[in-house]
Amino acid sequence: MNPFKPLYDACNAPKDELIDFPRIIDLEVTNTCNFRCVMCPTGNRSMKRPSGFMNYGTFVRVVEQCDGCHGIRFIGWGEPLLHPDIVRFVCFANQHDILTHLNTNASKLDLRMAEDLVDAGLSSIKFSFQGADKESYQQMRKTDFFEGMVRAIEKMHQARGHRKFPYISASTSLTDESPQIVEKFRERLEPLVDSLTIGRTIFGFMDLQVARLSEEEKQRIEPMIEWERANLRHPDPCPEVFDKLTIQWDGSVRVCCNDYNGLTNLGNVMTSPLRDIWRHKQIEEYRARLRKKDYDAPLCKDCWQYI
Ligand code: SF4
Repeated sequence: MNPFKPLYDACNAPKDELIDFPRIIDLEVTNTCNFRCVMCPTGNRSMKRPSGFMNYGTFVRVVEQCDGCHGIRFIGWGEPLLHPDIVRFVCFANQHDILTHLNTNASKLDLRMAEDLVDAGLSSIKFSFQGADKESYQQMRKTDFFEGMVRAIEKMHQARGHRKFPYISASTSLTDESPQIVEKFRERLEPLVDSLTIGRTIFGFMDLQVARLSEEEKQRIEPMIEWERANLRHPDPCPEVFDKLTIQWDGSVRVCCNDYNGLTNLGNVMTSPLRDIWRHKQIEEYRARLRKKDYDAPLCKDCWQYI
C-alpha cells in the first residue's frame, strides 16, 4: 500500500477545523530541469523566479520543525534528482521518521541512484510521463525518453528487490491521444508499477504570452485552454491550503504549489517558524475564500481538477 495513502485520505476528507501543522510539506529542492516540456513554466521558460538549489541548512531547518508533519514530498517546478544532495535529504528525513516521496522525469535515475534512494529509505516514487506513447511523449516533452522511463522503472524495481518500499507509481497526462493508444499504455505500464494514474494535461495556469514556444505550439494550446475554462471544474474541496505547505528552493513559503512565480509570500523558513507561517494572513485569506467556494483569487481562477 502507498505509505502516503492515510495522509491523502485525511487531506481529502471534509474537515471543520484547521489542523495545527500541515500533514504534508511540498519541497521544491530545485526549480531547474534538464527537460523543456511544453506545458511546464520551467521547461517553456515562462517562470520569472530566479533558479537555484535548496541548500542543506534550509532543508535541515524544515525537517527539524516538522514534529507534527507526516510527509515531505520532493516535488515542485524542477527535477529533484538534479539536486546533488537528494539522497542525503531523503536519508535525513527518514532518520526523523518522516515519510518521503519524489516525482521524477527519471532522466538521472541509473541503477546506482535507485539503490542509493532505496537504502536512504525513500517511501514512494512517482515516474511522471507525458502522453501515452513515444510520439505523444516527445511532442510534449521535446525529448525522446519514453523508453528510458520504462527502463528506469525497471531499475527501481531491481533496486527495491524484496523490500516493501519505495512504493512505485507512474502518472501521465493526456491531450488528444486515441483511446487505443491510451489502452496500450495502460496494458504496458500497469504490470510495471504499484499504481498508475492517467489524467488530463492542464494548460490553464500557463502564461502563453511569455512562454518560449513556437507559434504552432501556442496555436495548438490556446483552444485547449479555452476548453478547460468551459468544461473543467475547480478542485473541491481544495486540499492544498488546509493540509499542505509549499516551500521553494530558497526557503520561501507559498500558499500553494501552483504559485510558480511566487505571487504569494508567507515568509521564509530561515527567518520565521513554520507554525507561524501556517497561520499567515495570506494563506488564511485563501482558506476563507475556498471555504466559500470562491475561486476568483489569482492562483485559483485557472486551477482545474487534474483527473
Ligand atoms: S490554486 Fe487555489 S484551488 Fe488550486 S490548489 Fe492552489 S489554493 Fe487550491
